[in-house]
Amino acid sequence: MSNQRRAICALTIAGSDSGGGAGIQADLKTFAAHGVHGLSAIAALTAQNTRAVTAVNVPPTAFLHAQIDACFDDFRIGAVKLGMLANARVIHAVADALERHRPKHVVLDPVMVASSGARLLDPAALNALRSRLIPLATVITPNIPEAELLLGHTIVSGADADRALAELRALGARAVLLKGGHLQGREMTDRLDDGRRRHAFVHARLKVEGHGTGCTLASAIAAQLSLGQSLAGACAAAADYVHGALVHASRPGKGKVAVLDHF
Ligand code: PLP
Repeated sequence: MSNQRRAICALTIAGSDSGGGAGIQADLKTFAAHGVHGLSAIAALTAQNTRAVTAVNVPPTAFLHAQIDACFDDFRIGAVKLGMLANARVIHAVADALERHRPKHVVLDPVMVASSGARLLDPAALNALRSRLIPLATVITPNIPEAELLLGHTIVSGADADRALAELRALGARAVLLKGGHLQGREMTDRLDDGRRRHAFVHARLKVEGHGTGCTLASAIAAQLSLGQSLAGACAAAADYVHGALVHASRPGKGKVAVLDHF
């Protein structure tokens, strides 16, 4: 008889970053740092380093389904994190799989464009994201440019961001964490509407261009939810985790972007 404890598991369905800073690689490091066993279904592969994304390959839908089904058939999954999904075909495939497996929590990072400028989602896929995935999410975690694309207007001030939070909820999201890193100011504020009330998570702005911060935040939220945290508690802890990981970030490549330290 084995007396080993049952592991808590979280699944990331996202893109691979060959440079190890973002995507699946950041997600698995984040899960591990939270003591959660990380599972992954790779929705897209990127050839990428600290300077650029040089190629993208999207595996066949049947293979993505095989990865997701293999995970759900064996592990008790506390939360699913969704990252780079590349195009509408992949979004529909992931939505079909989630409707079949019905995980308790889904954290949707609506990844669209990398900070390097590389497109990680076909613009024609925005409608599929809105209609298929946003309604399945426990929380969506757009940054300001992603929220602008979802809403079709600019967000330049804190007051705009407050209004955008309500507009994003009106798209059918149960909860919204709007990341404030792209707004001006010495502090940065992440705003959460958890479906009942609003919260603000404020951190000093650091002079570091972090790579994979969005991926890390969303997977830290998924890890915390799978550990049983409330949504507001998970988002607060995840925002603190990303801040700490940025404080200790390093530059492993020749580009100026830094990768986070997954302590
Ligand atoms: N590559 C992959 C596979 C990603 O999922 C993401 C972000 O979600 C990025 C790159 C972009 O990361 P960043 O914009 O933080 O550089």
